[in-house]
Amino acid sequence: MERKLASIQVIHDLQPIAGADAILCAKVLGWELVVKKTEFRVGDKCVFFEIDSIIPNMPWSAHLCKDGKPLRVRTIRLRKQLSQGVALPITLLPSGDYTEGQDVTTEAGVTKWEAIIPAELHGKVKGTRPSWIPKTDEPRLQSDPDALQELLALSGDVVGTVKMDGSSVTAFIRDGVFGVTSRNMELLETEDNAYWKTIRALNVEQKMRDYFAPTENIALQGELVGPGIQGNRAGLKDFNIHWFNLLDINSSKYSSHSALESFIAHSQLTMVQVIFRGKLPSYTNVLSLLKMANELKYSNGLPAEGIVWRPIEETYSNVLKGRLSVKTISNLFLETYKE
Ligand code: AMP
Ligand code: MN
Repeated sequence: MERKLASIQVIHDLQPIAGADAILCAKVLGWELVVKKTEFRVGDKCVFFEIDSIIPNMPWSAHLCKDGKPLRVRTIRLRKQLSQGVALPITLLPSGDYTEGQDVTTEAGVTKWEAIIPAELHGKVKGTRPSWIPKTDEPRLQSDPDALQELLALSGDVVGTVKMDGSSVTAFIRDGVFGVTSRNMELLETEDNAYWKTIRALNVEQKMRDYFAPTENIALQGELVGPGIQGNRAGLKDFNIHWFNLLDINSSKYSSHSALESFIAHSQLTMVQVIFRGKLPSYTNVLSLLKMANELKYSNGLPAEGIVWRPIEETYSNVLKGRLSVKTISNLFLETYKE
């Protein structure tokens, strides 16, 4: 499922901000953000734009778009108040009946901000990512706070893994053919391509062929990290891939975390680092998980990007209308790197 970047939401709280007359702190879903003082009352509907939205320059957004450029929604601080997301009156949409939670990403002309991948990473493209390889993505817990209730209600264990800030990579074998994709593209094997170079250096193809039956169609998904990738915030000296998904292509089902772990351990590859495994305490809330993310550091002592939370056993989420899996991004990371 593509993420809802712009949706109809309700302003469920408004509080003054010390030293500021014209703005208020609003609560929308699990987020806090700054809004204009006179624009909303508690209970009003709004169009909520999540961080990483690109808001087009339109008459209704011109006050946000500097020099007429589209606005990338980032984490900011105004008068010491953290502000994550943008809320605007629903009058920006064509008139009609809008229900809470409704996705209006297309109606609002919003697209997702994605890091630009340097040319040497991208290399030569074979085509777009085949449809039978799922796009990697993780919803933010603050946008779907009810997903936490699903994690708390599980009979099995939950696993929290360190989110690496690199570039998504998939290695697959289908009908005997081995291939590599980035998040959006299938890549040709060339010598200067960082995805393929790392896959070859780690001997991923052979390790997959040794472990899985020749009849199996398998995709392995991970994060490519290393020098020059996304600012290399973990300060790594070499390229590596931290694996987080194993998928049976024929049934398009993800395997359990344990099945991935067994393959990774057997093959001496690198798994995303597990920092929590077990039952989440019943008093867990969005803030306590965010606090864990804020306190997490990479081994170089710098703030980690965050934590991805999932059941060990793959589970369908009614809240997310897809796999149960969410990210809590560290606000310290977002503020440090102005994202
Ligand atoms: P974002 O980078 O904000 O688009 O968040 C989703 C992406 O995080 C996924 O598509 C993966 O490429 C990446 N990622 C990094 N670390 C992990 C992890 N531990 N678990 C799952 N996805 C991860
Ligand atoms: Mn990322």
